[in-house]
Amino acid sequence: MFSKFNKKIKDISSPQEKSIKKNNTSNILEEPSKDGNKSKESSLEKRFESDTTQTKSPPDTLHDTNPKTSNSLGSLNDPSAIMNSAIGDKSQHLLFEIEQIPDKTIKPVIDFNNNSVSYPILSKIGQSSDNTLFLDDLVTDGTLKRQVHEKLIICPDHPDKFSSSVKLYCPGCNSVNVEKLNLYEHKKCGFITENLVHDFSNPNNSECPSCGKKIIDFKKEIRIPAMWHQCIDCKEKFDNAIIKMFCRKHEHDFDINSGRFVTTYSYQLRDHDAPITSDEELMRDDLITLLNNLNFSAEFTVLVKGKSGNHHKIPIYATNNSNGESIAVFMDYDTEISQSKINSILIPILDIDPKHTMLISSLEAKEDVKPLAKQYGIQIISDSKRSKIIEQVDEFISKNYPKPGEPIES
Ligand SMILES: [Zn+2]
Ligand SMILES: [Zn+2]
Ligand SMILES: [Zn+2]
Repeated sequence: MFSKFNKKIKDISSPQEKSIKKNNTSNILEEPSKDGNKSKESSLEKRFESDTTQTKSPPDTLHDTNPKTSNSLGSLNDPSAIMNSAIGDKSQHLLFEIEQIPDKTIKPVIDFNNNSVSYPILSKIGQSSDNTLFLDDLVTDGTLKRQVHEKLIICPDHPDKFSSSVKLYCPGCNSVNVEKLNLYEHKKCGFITENLVHDFSNPNNSECPSCGKKIIDFKKEIRIPAMWHQCIDCKEKFDNAIIKMFCRKHEHDFDINSGRFVTTYSYQLRDHDAPITSDEELMRDDLITLLNNLNFSAEFTVLVKGKSGNHHKIPIYATNNSNGESIAVFMDYDTEISQSKINSILIPILDIDPKHTMLISSLEAKEDVKPLAKQYGIQIISDSKRSKIIEQVDEFISKNYPKPGEPIES
């Protein structure tokens, strides 16, 4: 940490850097003429090209938010309370709950007695746990992704009953009294036996009757060279047992091919660890360089601990070297900023409570998104040109963190 700090001071005070910085400042103060704009852009680009090597830092660094700069939002220990007091919106609360699940996926729970599919997480946000329409709405707006979780085979005559099982019949006498039969081979000594004679899978029979060695790892030491079934009633041995489905509620068989399907779905948070594009990577490097030059310590992909105790992955997190105030920077580079993107940002920023939040995009945000962003103090910065974005970020930060001797713009 200390050596990095030294390095940064060294970089800033290099003569080349100083002159570029000076150029840049004077350009911003000038009325923009066509030519002036052009030279400003190229000098900015040059500045960031020459600097990108210093910005690499280890990803996933742990940071604690500075308690001095945090405003209190609800109870410090209950993440749900933070969400409830800060935003009443149920979908945002749900996103917060999904964030706490390791694979960010809501899975269905099937109740075979009541023949229902439910999502218990919904009851946490005051919704009925079988309200799949609520989840489907979040799929429509792009927040969640729906995936097939399971295909249950159910009775064609009683499709409202989910509970069915597989039954095996003897092909000779049609009895269900069928036993599984297989051979075991002790790999080490070559001893072969039927499972009804010596069942190696039973832990009490772990000693080989032939060589006397103890079997410690059944899967590794025992081979199953053959497997079939035997009918206990007619004693016939066969490997083509008749397989039927059994409707448990109404106690009758049905053919597996006549069975109907019930499809259950899981819902996963979208953009979970989306791969970063090369444009986004360049943007990220430029932003980190800029922030470091403006008296911030900036790093990318930082895990920041929020008031709830949960960690949030922030694309760029910068802390002011003088007063410890923090800036969280999010990027939605090649997509139009949508309401669901704002929703996904709200969760970490309400918990971390940075002084400033920026959302960077190469595309203009949708009109309906702007008031929402404004409400939560999210500064949307968008432009198709990378250098223009850097310029806007530079202006925004310089306005909020003037260098000594510079007047505060209003
Ligand atoms: Zn049935
Ligand atoms: Zn039989
Ligand atoms: Zn043996």
